[in-house]
Amino acid sequence: MKLIEHFVGGKKTPGKSDKKSKVFNPATGEQEKEVKIASKEDLDQAVMVAQKAFEEWSLKPALVRARVMFKFKELIEKNSDELTKLIVSEHGKVYEDAKGSLTRGLEVVEFACGIPHLIKGEFSENVGTSVDSWSIRQPLGVVAGITPFNFPAMVPMWMFPIAIACGNTFILKPSEKDPSCAIKLAELLKEAGLPDGVFNVVNGDKEAVDAILTNKDIKAVSFVGSTPIAKYIYENSAKNEKRVQALGGAKNHLVVMPDCDLESAVNGLMGAAYGSAGERCMAQSVAVAVGDIGDELVSRLSKKAEALKVGPGMDKSSEMGPLVTKEHLEKVKGYVDLGVNEGAKLIVDGRNLKLQGYENGFYIGGCLFDHVKKEMRIYNEEIFGPVLSVVRVKNFEEAAKLINDHEYGNGVSIYTRDGDAGRTFASKIQVGMVGINVPIPVPMAFHSFGGWKRSLFGDSGMHGMEGIKFYTKLKTVTSRWPSGVRSNAEFVMPTMK
Ligand code: NAD
Repeated sequence: MKLIEHFVGGKKTPGKSDKKSKVFNPATGEQEKEVKIASKEDLDQAVMVAQKAFEEWSLKPALVRARVMFKFKELIEKNSDELTKLIVSEHGKVYEDAKGSLTRGLEVVEFACGIPHLIKGEFSENVGTSVDSWSIRQPLGVVAGITPFNFPAMVPMWMFPIAIACGNTFILKPSEKDPSCAIKLAELLKEAGLPDGVFNVVNGDKEAVDAILTNKDIKAVSFVGSTPIAKYIYENSAKNEKRVQALGGAKNHLVVMPDCDLESAVNGLMGAAYGSAGERCMAQSVAVAVGDIGDELVSRLSKKAEALKVGPGMDKSSEMGPLVTKEHLEKVKGYVDLGVNEGAKLIVDGRNLKLQGYENGFYIGGCLFDHVKKEMRIYNEEIFGPVLSVVRVKNFEEAAKLINDHEYGNGVSIYTRDGDAGRTFASKIQVGMVGINVPIPVPMAFHSFGGWKRSLFGDSGMHGMEGIKFYTKLKTVTSRWPSGVRSNAEFVMPTMK
């Protein structure tokens, strides 16, 4: 049985705790690995190492830090097949999808390569007579990232390339369900020339997370995961005087207007609802059929959902892989049972899917509900599986109200040929990331990723300039070099004469 350890101070280490957790291959349902689960002591030890490394790393010129990122970028490209296979073997998503998610992470590394420019300050000459003023951004110290299972490479890469490029040192606590990718990324960073102790991976569960939240030397916490845990991280980070950004769960809507190119909307929905088996925070899990488009929309969706090719992620013909664990599979099936009991119409039922040769894998076929109502739990709660709900509404205003009333506000999209509807939607909708004729509006690395309402606690999104601001603190210097004349004491607010 392969054992996954921690990575601290530039090398793998078992830590002191003996606790372990099982890591499965979702395609076969077999346990292939086990991962060490850190104690508070293990976490605190890693923070001490990171704190020591901060002393020198924070003093390196930004250009030197950028060069490590350039080399890291090359190494990710060189090792992309191995990284992708690690994602597939522990998460289950199909190979090309896993590779795409790695690329989206790589784009943040590319963004971080521009750190000398991104971190540049501002300078004003002569803000008063012979007085100059400038603002600079300085690193925070040791910062931590706590990440979910669904993007084992991309989500950590939303965080650490920018944090490190800004001069911080980093503790990553990845999901215990698919931890191998994080260790490989740590090895590649070392190979890229990153000094030991700047990037550390501590595997663990709630105990390690609580140790992060209470460790006084950790100055900022970035979290991505489910909403209840995001809220817990937000509250406890703040209580312990840390900067925090905590991204939570989602229930995303795709509005299908009667004037849209229906085939594009259907294809957009298929990929966005069933891609990665629905285990994406930007998955479109609600199709809002406006006016009289509902029957035709459901008819086209049902044919495609029935024809979905479900199989192991390494099989090139698979469009959708298994879910991450048996427990998660049972939870998703439970939601489908619930939808039936709540009175929604189950048009496509994937619950009984069996794959020859992979009988123990965590598979479910695509599921499609019609006539879902806004009071139902399957509408309100995040299912995080390949279950698409169609809600029918009379008009645009009803669609917008439905979305604005929802507790989550991560991503949303509208398919229409009406520019007025598209523009009004983008302006008025209470959601952080909006698509117009685009199914999954994930911002690029140089913009920022973040939802609204209960999809994000804190006030800054991931990567882009939000990331630079989150991982630095602003210092403003006001300076005078008097040339001979001494100023007198002033007892009133200085103003410009
Ligand atoms: P999760 O909340 O169960 O776990 C996330 C992290 O928190 C993991 O590292 C886990 O070990 C840790 N954790 C779990 N339970 C904890 C507890 N009780 N106390 C402290 N730490 C705990 O999430 P998940 O199942 O790994 O990921 C799926 C969720 O993540 C979904 O809700 C999805 O929408 C969300 N997600 C959101 C975004 C976003 O950008 N908003 C992106 C990806 C995933």
